[in-house]
Amino acid sequence: MTSRRLQVYATGAVTVTFDPNICVHSGACVRGLPQVFNVREKRWVRPERAPADAVIAQVQRCPSGALRAWRAGEDPSPGHDGAHAATAPDADDVPLEERGG
Ligand code: SF4
Repeated sequence: MTSRRLQVYATGAVTVTFDPNICVHSGACVRGLPQVFNVREKRWVRPERAPADAVIAQVQRCPSGALRAWRAGEDPSPGHDGAHAATAPDADDVPLEERGG
């Protein structure tokens, strides 16, 4: 299995990262905060659409740890050194129970 790139989505208030390699496709994110986590959109994480508190609270419910989040000005947890700028994920790189088709 090839390793997929860490995705980074940042606003002025919060940064969210998603590691498609460890997502278990529970769908908790898209059900819990659908205005932010919407796999029907090319840029599927939109942290600017909810308060930072809500985004972080939802990220903390991710059962696999694929999602991580921290506030602007805080140090991220270890493990983000290789983060790349956000790019539109490939269709296979989003948590997809709702992909349809
Ligand atoms: S990123 Fe979303 S779909 Fe994947 S494990 Fe976390 S909550 Fe579940």
